[in-house]
Amino acid sequence: MDSTPTWEWLEGYPALDFANTVIRRGWTEHELVTTVADLESWLDAAALPAPRPDAVTDEDLQSFLLLRDPALRLLRSAAGHDEWRSADVGVVNDALLSCPEVAVLGEEPGVVESQMIGSPRPFAVLLARLAVEVREILAVPRTDLALCDAPGCGQLFFQRRTNQAWCGPPCGNRARVARHHGAGRQH
Ligand SMILES: [Zn+2]
Repeated sequence: MDSTPTWEWLEGYPALDFANTVIRRGWTEHELVTTVADLESWLDAAALPAPRPDAVTDEDLQSFLLLRDPALRLLRSAAGHDEWRSADVGVVNDALLSCPEVAVLGEEPGVVESQMIGSPRPFAVLLARLAVEVREILAVPRTDLALCDAPGCGQLFFQRRTNQAWCGPPCGNRARVARHHGAGRQH
């Protein structure tokens, strides 16, 4: 039985924390958000671009995954590891269009507040804002977005130096050990 993930690899970028809910064990990918409890634990650990919804439902879990998968593929595509699919763009755009926001004047000069149109549910707002975070990364060609192609990882990260191949030294070590033992990539 899998226990609730620790999320210790999350780095505090909402779009990447969203995408990095799939992780490799060896070379095999594993879904980490399979229950409402998993989603609750992710909400507690991740950088959220909207207030944390009080409670989540099975339906929220499904809508989380329905947006996460296309977002993950698009981000991986931008990192050179997946195809850019127009169907995925459509899903992210639908999330953006689902909760429009307008910047309105605040109570004093220099203050602008964001106001949602209508009264969307907090979880819908969260998904829409996550879509905004994904859009912001994909809107400009980012040369520092990379995928850590090591066994036991496969996480997206922002490079802190040019040509950084691994998200951290442990991944570099695991990849070197795997290569040394001739394991190579096995799908
Ligand atoms: Zn890594």
